[in-house]
Amino acid sequence: MERTVDVVVVGAGIAGLVAARDLVRNGAEVLVLEARDRVGGRLLNEELPGGAAIEVGGQWVGPGQDRILDLIDELGLKTFPTYDEGRHIAEIGGGRSEYVGRIPKLNPLALADIAQLQWRLDRLARQVPVDAPWQAARATEWDSQTVATWLQRAGRTTGGRGFLRVITEAVFSAEPEDLSLLWAAFYINAAGGIDALINTTGGAQQDRIAGGSQTIALRLAEDLGDRVVPNAPVTEIDWDPAGVRVTAGSTTVRARRAVIAVPPPLAARIHYTPGLPGDRDQLVQRMPMGRVIKFNVVYDEPFWRRTGFSGQANSDKRALGTVFDNTLPDHSPGVLVGFFEGRHADLGARLSSADRRAQVIEDLTGYFGPQARNPVAFIERDWAEEEYSRGCYGAFTAPGTLTRFGPALRAPIGPLHWAGTETATRWAGYMDGAAESGHRVAREIAVNLHFQ
Ligand SMILES: Cc1cc2nc3c(=O)[nH]c(=O)nc-3n(C[C@H](O)[C@H](O)[C@H](O)COP(=O)(O)OP(=O)(O)OC[C@H]3O[C@@H](n4cnc5c(N)ncnc54)[C@H](O)[C@@H]3O)c2cc1C
Repeated sequence: MERTVDVVVVGAGIAGLVAARDLVRNGAEVLVLEARDRVGGRLLNEELPGGAAIEVGGQWVGPGQDRILDLIDELGLKTFPTYDEGRHIAEIGGGRSEYVGRIPKLNPLALADIAQLQWRLDRLARQVPVDAPWQAARATEWDSQTVATWLQRAGRTTGGRGFLRVITEAVFSAEPEDLSLLWAAFYINAAGGIDALINTTGGAQQDRIAGGSQTIALRLAEDLGDRVVPNAPVTEIDWDPAGVRVTAGSTTVRARRAVIAVPPPLAARIHYTPGLPGDRDQLVQRMPMGRVIKFNVVYDEPFWRRTGFSGQANSDKRALGTVFDNTLPDHSPGVLVGFFEGRHADLGARLSSADRRAQVIEDLTGYFGPQARNPVAFIERDWAEEEYSRGCYGAFTAPGTLTRFGPALRAPIGPLHWAGTETATRWAGYMDGAAESGHRVAREIAVNLHFQ
């Protein structure tokens, strides 16, 4: 197939679909090429026993995520609150605390340390401009260290350091040793602070989407109709100032502009002719994806609620470091969702599926008691094994990347425009950031091609 359109979009995740929708609304002729046989990218619904949808990819939305909340509203979808009642569990710094509210009952020294670490990191983050982190007054200093380097100096107790490690893994699905401190600070500021990132009620885990989050992408794709082409992995982009020729198997598309709405490491796997400028290529060479395996473990009923547990648990000693109650509002069946993140995903991926399952059940039993031993279903997804994601939740930058190559993250190159949640200035890494990037890139092109 050979087609000529105004704009070709590579990738039918939220970012690509939002960009396509905005461009179509502006009168452009658009084609979206999607590598997988489905839309949604890092959003994917599977079925619980009984048929209800459950997410194996991204799922939560929260206050301040206005772009995705507006989109949910526009598409006629509904949200419902994450179950957030009862006692949470925190196993940090060697102890176990069962607590209600936001603050675990840890020893006072650890608690004071956590408070000072969070205060200092939030203050540091507020000094990082979300649209140009490399322009922070202390950008070079913060970009020449990892979160771990900072934590070694700033942390005073095992509990404080353990807590920061758990939240780094939970938020970035990477280790403190992996991340540039400047990237972490940018990401925190882009979300409005650490509490916004880690809280359930009032934070990023507050609400879920009825019917599962992939419905957002499915609805957007439905509206775009045959403008979305599945099973079309883009391998080649030939470009010059006038336009592009994009190749996906037997499909060739010529267009005046291309939106590349795939995660940075995957954008690097496409072959460009002529090759991209060094700054852009050096940037994407230094942006790996985080690593996560997500588990939905299904029980006859949410048994933990009967003993007063919320289903929320965190641990700096278990592989399943983060757990939430993922039961749907009708209460049946009960679902616990948990994650192997960062180094735990490395180790978990090397286990046989039976051993991995045994590890998950052992950790859930450790948190919630022997009833966790008997799930009725076990749904897992290892995102590093996905050819067109190669990790999750998102990409991050290694030290020395943002300050040297940061401006190449969003700057168009000739007819090539970059979208995807990693290019966002608010809630980068989240569905909201993906939607922001789609709107931004559509505006960029509309202005450029005088569609508006
Ligand atoms: C386990 C997990 C949990 C998460 N939890 C949350 C959460 O609770 N809340 C939240 O907001 N976010 C969460 N996220 C992150 C969220 O899912 C992403 O930020 C968002 O979906 C990214 O959208 P995107 O459009 O930028 O990228 P993607 O969804 O990655 O879309 C990119 C698309 O491009 C396609 N593609 C790749 N290469 C090519 C190619 N060469 N040719 C053609 N197509 C290609 C891919 O198949 C994909 O469809 C989570 C992610 C995961 C995996």
